[in-house]
Amino acid sequence: MQAIVIAGNVVLCVRLQTSYRKSTSQSQLKERGPVEHARAQDRATLHKPVRGAQPRRVVVIGAGAAGLMAAIFAASAGAKTLLLERTKDGGRKILISGGGRCNILPAQLDESRFVTDSSPNTLRNIVRSWPLPAQVAFFEQDLGLKLVEEPESAKLFPASQRARDVRDQLLALARRRGAEFWPNTLVTNITFLNGSWQVERDGAPRLEADAVIMATGGLSVPQTGSDGWGLRMVEQLGHTMHSTYAALTPVLTEPAPFAALSGVSLQVRLIAEDGPRKATATGGFLFTHGGYSGPAVLDISHVLVRSRTSGDASAGLLVQWTNLDEEAWQAALGPDGTRTVGAVVRQALPARLADALVTSAGLNPACQLAQLRREERLRLVKTLVRGELPWTGDEGYKKAEVTGGGVSLAEIDPQTMESRRHPGLFLCGEILDAFGPIGGYNFLWAWATGRAAGLGAARTA
Ligand SMILES: Cc1cc2nc3c(=O)[nH]c(=O)nc-3n(C[C@H](O)[C@H](O)[C@H](O)COP(=O)(O)OP(=O)(O)OC[C@H]3O[C@@H](n4cnc5c(N)ncnc54)[C@H](O)[C@@H]3O)c2cc1C
Repeated sequence: MQAIVIAGNVVLCVRLQTSYRKSTSQSQLKERGPVEHARAQDRATLHKPVRGAQPRRVVVIGAGAAGLMAAIFAASAGAKTLLLERTKDGGRKILISGGGRCNILPAQLDESRFVTDSSPNTLRNIVRSWPLPAQVAFFEQDLGLKLVEEPESAKLFPASQRARDVRDQLLALARRRGAEFWPNTLVTNITFLNGSWQVERDGAPRLEADAVIMATGGLSVPQTGSDGWGLRMVEQLGHTMHSTYAALTPVLTEPAPFAALSGVSLQVRLIAEDGPRKATATGGFLFTHGGYSGPAVLDISHVLVRSRTSGDASAGLLVQWTNLDEEAWQAALGPDGTRTVGAVVRQALPARLADALVTSAGLNPACQLAQLRREERLRLVKTLVRGELPWTGDEGYKKAEVTGGGVSLAEIDPQTMESRRHPGLFLCGEILDAFGPIGGYNFLWAWATGRAAGLGAARTA
């Protein structure tokens, strides 16, 4: 719940946060059906693995968030599971996530905030296959990792605040459930030959598998191991790709009119719009040397990136600098008294930013309210409520937290994550055409698709 208190010209925004435990149990009540179903399925998987004459051989490529989860569930369901990873340890994005604390999940989920060029219905069905409370229960009960909420951001973190614990415990659970982990193993090709999948490795004999799970990630932050090989491989196999683009990345502007404000941060509302493509975000905003960053900027950045890479970079970026709307600012800047314009705006904004905005509206911060002309007031109000932020570029994949676009969800069975083009091939995580905002949404997607792929690969005949 949000309460907005207007004291003079100052707006305080207070978020009245109920505790996570309370909100979870409320949503658990609402979602008892699917949550109970998912938990029962997890328990049944563990205690009654699917058995045949020979266990299915499942190779998981990539030990990131999605691959680790896929290996846990494939092994739990009785498959002979091999987890291959090119780096020496795996899970490197988990290690750097959430500033080293790993924002493992959101505390509340708004499915409409996921972005895809595929069917939003398919995306929702996949997300609902492992509801948020069931995921929380998995981490707390099965993995033994207590989660705590950061109330101001509605994000869940491990109580230890250590991302390493998340990575290490997922890997340990995968091993306990029977998966083998082979680090330093670069996969170079996969083919289907004589009824089984052939997995080719760099400098080592090929492996044979009944099912292959591609959990190789996207293109963002390539030094973590995900360089887009999986995307290229799956495209070669004939899958339809939605164009990929950097998402959740800082925005640049050249020249940088606000460079002197570098380091100033505040809460804002942003709207990025490029024809029919639009994104809005309310949250943290940070001035950097070359532009803007912070959660609100990252959340709308994909609209600007796509406008630059596929068009003429003409997307508009509008900012509302405070919670005050047009009417409230009109009243606050009314033509009475000897107070200065700068003093009024400084009550609602950091002083350096307030002066910069008044100046950018063509006014002198020392101008008294009584002397302000009507058109000047209107210009300043527009700057404060619907200010145009200049932008010219972005930090791209180097800093992007995720990759937008990827394998079309239309070619994946949403129950099992099996390719509709190649039986026995399963896909999960960032390689798929979906991403969510800052706040644990992208791990939620990786965990849900990884689990579904693991169960699917172990069970699908
Ligand atoms: C700086 C940063 C911070 C983030 N913070 C958060 C956060 O707090 N919360 C959140 O929800 N999301 C966060 N994310 C996003 C999140 O990390 C990703 O969405 C998630 O890791 C994707 O998981 P994945 O398993 O699909 O891919 P990845 O994590 O990229 O894993 C892919 C794995 O496959 C391996 N691989 C690739 N190709 C091969 C090959 N040919 N052979 C063998 N192995 C291969 C790679 O080495 C890698 O280990 C963050 C991302 C970044 C970059």
